[in-house]
Amino acid sequence: MNLDSKFVWMNGALVPQEKAVVPFLTPALHYGTAVFEGMRAYNTSKGSAIFRLKEHITRLFASARIFGFLALPWTEEEVIEGSKAVVRENGFTECYVRPLLFAASGHMGLNLLGIVPGLGIAAWEWKGFVSPEAETAGLRANVSSFTRHHPNVMMTKSKLAGNYGNSVLARTESARLGFDEALMLDPTGLVAEGTGENLFAVRKGVLYTPHRATVLEGLTRDSVITIARDLGYEVREEALTRDQLYVADELFVCGTAAEVLGIRELDFRPIGTGVRGPVTTRLAEAFRRAATGQEPRYADWLDHCNK
Ligand code: PMP
Repeated sequence: MNLDSKFVWMNGALVPQEKAVVPFLTPALHYGTAVFEGMRAYNTSKGSAIFRLKEHITRLFASARIFGFLALPWTEEEVIEGSKAVVRENGFTECYVRPLLFAASGHMGLNLLGIVPGLGIAAWEWKGFVSPEAETAGLRANVSSFTRHHPNVMMTKSKLAGNYGNSVLARTESARLGFDEALMLDPTGLVAEGTGENLFAVRKGVLYTPHRATVLEGLTRDSVITIARDLGYEVREEALTRDQLYVADELFVCGTAAEVLGIRELDFRPIGTGVRGPVTTRLAEAFRRAATGQEPRYADWLDHCNK
């Protein structure tokens, strides 16, 4: 992964990347007290555009509010414009965009009172989130031995940096076991989500996805539900169990980085025919067309970065 870029937006202005640094005694570095977003800019016929930018920035501010960062000195509009400027001024056509709002200074206590927030927005060209083979054939996944957060322990609706220790535990274990991704169960044992993606199962042509109670309300999830319903599929948000996953015709995960990725094997059991299924393929293609501006009905999901 190449993280190079020319500029990072820091607290309201673009600065050269080498100047976008934080001191060692930054509270967020010690306690995970930061909230962030992950967005993607796609190349469209009208130049690069950030997919669902407004909703991502609304979720960033929601994450901040949930965690308890109050009275922030930036507006959503400023962060939206800053995100577009980062893509534009770095000259990227397709890239990943990362706003991060963090406990920058004030004190090193476990208390947000008196903390001074900082906000940076970086972008990098994130190519090949998975190998081309995994993209077309599907991933091999395991159900993690680690449980997803209880929502009254870590606030699963907030993209809090500290929450991601849980995902890192699961993803690292999964990689060491030789899998591509881990799926996580919630504290009651029901299926929750992937380490950085939401999950769907397809059975007899109907799409099932866990309800929103314990998972992040993914914007790709929301886009996939809209696209699937527009294509005539029935989509049900309901509780899913681990064994229901084993007997699904198709499984896929979706998220900003992953887009729509089939799961061909779970816990050594082939899913469906053991390759990415037709519904997943259709939705993955429709999602990409929407994200790259080739579907006029979803044009308002794109925010163009040109001035
Ligand atoms: N769940 C988790 C835990 C995530 O980190 C992400 C990535 N943001 C998602 C789901 C998918 O969300 P989105 O589609 O908005 O990227």
